[in-house]
Amino acid sequence: MLPTDLIDRVYRGECMKEDAALLATAPPAELFGLADELRAEAVGDVVSYIPNRNINFTNRCIGTCRFCAFKEPDGYRLGIPEILKKVEEAVSVGATEICIQGGLLPDMHLTNYCEILESVKSEFPAIHLHAYSPMEVWYAAGGGRGRDGSGNHDEDGAGVRDTLAALKKAGLDTMPGTAAEILVDDVRTKICPDKLNTEQWTSVVRTAHSLGIRTTATIMYGHIETVGDRIDHLFLIRDLQDETHGFTEFVPLSFMPYNNELGEGMLAGGNYGNTGIDDLRMHALARIVLHNRIPNIQASWVKLGKKLAQYALNCGANDLGGTLMEEKISKSAGSMSGEYMPPSEFDWIIENAGRIPRVRDTLYSHQRHPKQGQGR
Ligand code: SF4
Repeated sequence: MLPTDLIDRVYRGECMKEDAALLATAPPAELFGLADELRAEAVGDVVSYIPNRNINFTNRCIGTCRFCAFKEPDGYRLGIPEILKKVEEAVSVGATEICIQGGLLPDMHLTNYCEILESVKSEFPAIHLHAYSPMEVWYAAGGGRGRDGSGNHDEDGAGVRDTLAALKKAGLDTMPGTAAEILVDDVRTKICPDKLNTEQWTSVVRTAHSLGIRTTATIMYGHIETVGDRIDHLFLIRDLQDETHGFTEFVPLSFMPYNNELGEGMLAGGNYGNTGIDDLRMHALARIVLHNRIPNIQASWVKLGKKLAQYALNCGANDLGGTLMEEKISKSAGSMSGEYMPPSEFDWIIENAGRIPRVRDTLYSHQRHPKQGQGR
């Protein structure tokens, strides 16, 4: 039985790190039950999803992240016409959001990042552009590369605030809070030594929020991090939300151990990564720690698979993410889930979980019945 004073603190949004540590080892049924009650209190029985498309404009990258199964030395780079064609396809089947991310290319600069946004917005002004991770923004600002490619900061870079302002002017609406992985530098130096560090990630996101660019928040869990690292990550996100109120949702991303250096080391040692219970625990803990701060906890059907994502709706999650149309990153790392899930299948999954499906926009500011047209 969980102590009543702990439960009272959780309901008040005053969960402490020690409480989270205790909860992380609680029997699954108790943990999931508490998270489910908090979900019901925060958002009721509605489960949302968004018609969207991911566009990965390149799968080449100079990055060295050890968990990455996405980058290909001889990969592709999409031109503007190809990107516009993908947007057009998405819009024609009702997408309201386009998520654009890609690897880091030496010849990709702020002007190139802006050009993509401007091109899409000028052809499709109504589409919501959810684009560029904090790593990409930092890179566009001149971080992570020197003029000599040494990885030092490029002194000619525009700086993070000016970069974000330029991206916003070019059409950026919101940003994915990816590249967070685990926001603990001891972990980051082992899994992604050349990526922006915790302070830099936080600075990019804080600055984005201050400019009115809201973001999601993520955690990539289930590799070398400890439970304490996960808790530190959740509390960092919680504190930042108290400061900026800029996060729209929190998305736990289960580490996929296939086709990457980090995962192969784990597999060789007999560690097959997260089990289903581990995944559900992470979603439940996120709901509990972030209670009264971030009302939306997303279960990614791409990472979890459709059936476990459905079950996560009983463990604190209230959103199933997007229809996507293509999702190359997880598939590269061994995800079994497909590249597109139609709205009718979301409705099927949600209704069979005894919940109420709703189509949402990126900001969760508008929700409609799936059978209703847009713009209710
Ligand atoms: S995770 Fe992103 S930045 Fe890191 S190597 Fe892969 S594509 Fe590059």
